[in-house]
Amino acid sequence: MTQITLRRPDDMHLHLRDGAMLKAVLPETARHFARAIIMPNLVPPVVTARDAAAYRERILAALPEGMAFEPLMTLYLTEATDPADVAVAHASGLVKAVKLYPAGATTNSASGVRDFDKVRGVLETMAEIGLPLCVHGEVTDSAIDIFDREAVFIDRVLDPIRRATPGLRVVMEHITTKDGVDYASAQGDDLAATITTHHLIINRNHILAGGIKPHYYCLPVAKREEHRLALRAAATSGAARFFLGTDSAPHPDALKEHACGCAGCFTATNTMALLAHVFEEEGAMDRLETFTSLSGAAFYGLPANEDRITLEKTDRPASFPAKIDTGAGTVTVFDPGFPVHWSVSC
Ligand SMILES: [Zn+2]
Repeated sequence: MTQITLRRPDDMHLHLRDGAMLKAVLPETARHFARAIIMPNLVPPVVTARDAAAYRERILAALPEGMAFEPLMTLYLTEATDPADVAVAHASGLVKAVKLYPAGATTNSASGVRDFDKVRGVLETMAEIGLPLCVHGEVTDSAIDIFDREAVFIDRVLDPIRRATPGLRVVMEHITTKDGVDYASAQGDDLAATITTHHLIINRNHILAGGIKPHYYCLPVAKREEHRLALRAAATSGAARFFLGTDSAPHPDALKEHACGCAGCFTATNTMALLAHVFEEEGAMDRLETFTSLSGAAFYGLPANEDRITLEKTDRPASFPAKIDTGAGTVTVFDPGFPVHWSVSC
């Protein structure tokens, strides 16, 4: 196969940041993707419907002329989130999900939830109105090994929340373990899971062996090879509950190549090419569109995009920029570490 045409994909987990960074990274996504679920972890976070409406306006204002893109907004769940505000934001069509960050779990998550009893009312309202909860699924307990935090989160937090809130629709964001795949696979259709591009490609050796590679460091951190293989099997299975959320997360290089480097891989630029490579390797090209363009939209109750994109495979490896310039410093584009022969041609 040397060419494949898909419905235009959606990225169901994306960080666009704000200001100069937003302006620089937005075209990288909008070039290939029609829509994206926009993460609310700005400083300060997107907490209210009003914040989300203002952020949406800033995103649309940053979109280059001639590009089409629909930001799907989310709210950042805090212990002070007002259920009525959430309900109004959902009813108006503005907000498509609420994001749960356990306090301190990742970049800009300090306002996240510590006491889950305090958000019970919001979660019950969300279950009633069918608004999905997107979950960063890692415990923040420093006694738990960082490679175990996802599995422990499922047992200690996720499963209890779901049992206590029947009908709550949940997306396990960026799952990184076989435990995550197994848990998601065993649930009903009120549960889905996103998988990133980079977690299909790297395991923890890529970060730590042969010198530390800060551009492969993200949260949840990449795990052992067996987990990467479980993610590949899930992503390429065609199962509707697994869909793409790149978690493309730009940080200026100066903050990645640092004594205390930021977590995040920036994959917006080459994600579709990398996914074509992965799906071809797995003999699953016929399921690429399901993963990138159909299942996510279906879970969020959105129509599939009518527009199409075409990917082409060439003998000579495709070239992608190593970095993009932003008004906030350069950002390194994710390097898979192998030649990629696919690229989006139109
Ligand atoms: Zn994220």
